[in-house]
Amino acid sequence: MPKTEIDLPTRLYALAVVAGGVSSGAAVLASGSLAGTDVAAVGVLGTLCFLSTAFSPSYQGYFPSRVVFQTSSAFLFALLLLVPPAAACLVLWAYAGTDWIVHRRRFIMGGFNLGQLSLALGAATLVLRALPGEPVMWTPTRPLDLALGLLAVGVFSLVNQALTFGVLSLAGRRAVFRRNPITRSGLLTETLCITSGVAMAALWSLWPPLVVLALLPLWILPTLLALLGRREQDLEAHRDELRSLQQLGLELGGQLDEAHLHASIVRVATETFHAAGACLVLVPPEDGAPPAIAAHAGVCAHGSLVASHLLQRACEASDVTLEEPATPATRTALALPAGAGLLFVPLRMSDGRRGCLVVIRDVHRRRFDEADARRARTLAPFLETALANARLVAALRDMQAQLVHTERMSALGLLVSGVAHELNNPLTSVQGYAELWAAREDDPRRRAALELIAREAERAGTIVRHLLTFARPGSGRTDAVDVAAVVRRVVALREHDLQLKEVELELQLEEPLPAVSAETTALQQVLLNLLANAEHAVAQRPRPRRIRIGARAAGTRVVLSVADNGPGVPENIRDRIFLPFFTTKPVGQGTGLGLAISRRLVESYGGTLRLDPAVEGACFVVDLPQAATEPKRPPAAAGPAAFAPAPALGPHCLLVVDDEPAICGLVRDALEPRGWRVEQARDGLEALEKVRANHDYDVLLVDVRMPRMNGPEFYEKLQEERPELARRVIFSSGHLEADLAGLSVGPTHWLAKPYDLRTLVERVSAVAALDRRPR
Ligand code: ADP
Repeated sequence: MPKTEIDLPTRLYALAVVAGGVSSGAAVLASGSLAGTDVAAVGVLGTLCFLSTAFSPSYQGYFPSRVVFQTSSAFLFALLLLVPPAAACLVLWAYAGTDWIVHRRRFIMGGFNLGQLSLALGAATLVLRALPGEPVMWTPTRPLDLALGLLAVGVFSLVNQALTFGVLSLAGRRAVFRRNPITRSGLLTETLCITSGVAMAALWSLWPPLVVLALLPLWILPTLLALLGRREQDLEAHRDELRSLQQLGLELGGQLDEAHLHASIVRVATETFHAAGACLVLVPPEDGAPPAIAAHAGVCAHGSLVASHLLQRACEASDVTLEEPATPATRTALALPAGAGLLFVPLRMSDGRRGCLVVIRDVHRRRFDEADARRARTLAPFLETALANARLVAALRDMQAQLVHTERMSALGLLVSGVAHELNNPLTSVQGYAELWAAREDDPRRRAALELIAREAERAGTIVRHLLTFARPGSGRTDAVDVAAVVRRVVALREHDLQLKEVELELQLEEPLPAVSAETTALQQVLLNLLANAEHAVAQRPRPRRIRIGARAAGTRVVLSVADNGPGVPENIRDRIFLPFFTTKPVGQGTGLGLAISRRLVESYGGTLRLDPAVEGACFVVDLPQAATEPKRPPAAAGPAAFAPAPALGPHCLLVVDDEPAICGLVRDALEPRGWRVEQARDGLEALEKVRANHDYDVLLVDVRMPRMNGPEFYEKLQEERPELARRVIFSSGHLEADLAGLSVGPTHWLAKPYDLRTLVERVSAVAALDRRPR
């Protein structure tokens, strides 16, 4: 027992009790005689009294020690009743001395104990003095003596208790008779001792061995009380445990960031179970996605090993299990020492994810038991809720980021579409006039310069077309597309070039492959972009240069991959490569639109395009939904290519309707030398006036976007008034895809700006050659 400092008032009080006790004891001895002492009683009960004092263990609270200690007090009370006070005083001093020595009490405490007992005995003796002759408390034959004897025992106990309360109150600075559990149990114990002592005295006078019977209540009752007390302690421990678990639940519930939450869970589990470490493995609901693993202290195994071992357990187990000690397989998987143990907590989240928390015990901790399993069962729902909430928040954050990205992209798309449209008109004039003058130029240097202008304008036109594709990915129409056929077509286009650059191309196409829901041209463009990037990447390294194109079915999707053994995409730019205009290629070689356009296209068909980070070099993976139907055979020819080359017809008349004078001029300059008569109108209204003035045109080349009356409005009027002329309209637009998509009905002929002169002549000649009769 730790030695506490006794303050001065308590010390003075104790010393006063010691002094009073010594004088009281001396007075009792001096005034009484030992004549008539029952020597057998002193011998037997006194010895039992010393022995039970000596054997009561020194640690308190453990019920046998208390009961043994109480037994010694009961013997003492029995002796007080059976022998004269002087003899009782000697036994009492010997008893107090034994207690002092055996329990190694400090001087002041042992002295106080002796003093209080002596004082109590003095007080009891005073009561007995009322009796004639040598006082003995127990005289069953004389009722008055008996009554006085019992009164004396009561007084003894009262004085003894009062002095104890006094010193406890002084030491604890409490009111003397404050009712609390300690005083209540103290009084109960004292009453038990007195009752037992009186019973012992009575039984001794009948037949000494019967004393044993009086011990029974003394043992049975405290035993019952102790059992009840233990149960109460268990309940309190349980309540504390629940409170601490609630605390943990609140702490974990407040964590909304997934990575932090995982780290907190393993930390909290390690601390709660006083374990060596813990490991958390979560299986995502989608097939193929990697599991999330978090580990805390002591778990030093490789993540993948831990995961594969624990994942299997996560799928199998439905309740908390103990592995005590851990099996060799688990020990190997988690790199645990021999003798370590394991608490396995399966987790089932409301979002369908499964997982498990493994708490690891090292060899020094006691083995995990049912109490630990119970705690784990209580903790598990808190963990499951916290994990599900964090997932929800993460999903919300992702969605928010996606929304912001989509918003930004569509704003950019709008901007790009406007700019591209504006650029196409001047580009048409630049390209057209450059071609026109190059054809007429005799000076070779000037002709070369003009041809260069035409080529550059054409290149600019290609970039603008890309921009428009980015702004408006796909047409929204989907077909069942045969991926393998698209791959073969694209490969056929690039094969020769790849051979020249000494690039080995490997195809891994699963056959038969289900069709995907997309557009052939769009998929072709995506594949060409990815292949162009891969070619550029492998060109930067010495041989062997390899590109592998793979396609396989995965559930209801088809996965297409383009991998190369180039330098790969550096970590620091991985999150930017899909942004429009991001490029690391030199000026003139890259526009930074390839991946951005490809992703937009793939996403417009409900697919994904991502960079697979787990391989050497770079691997881009396209994932597209399977089509519900089988792929159609590609049409033999499509769109403008269906026009026949310009037939040699007589002189024709063309009305060009465009608000750009440069375009009108270009068409006129290009066609008039070929025998055409070209008239101009600045918008639909002016064109309508010309038509109403009864002009007959072979072809009407009409811009879509114009002030006052646009192309489609003009076309509608024409259909009403001159349906035979409406068939001869060619729509021309800088943003043809978008404009055509916006039309409910429209002409079947169209020309995308910028166009080259050959295409212009071919297209107008083909329309001029149409049958003139109305349908
Ligand atoms: P561009 O090809 O015009 O640069 P992209 O959008 O196609 O535009 O590509 C953007 C960037 O992504 C490239 O500049 C390059 O840094 C990187 N990238 C794309 N594909 C690969 C690849 N296969 N290997 C390495 N880096 C690549």
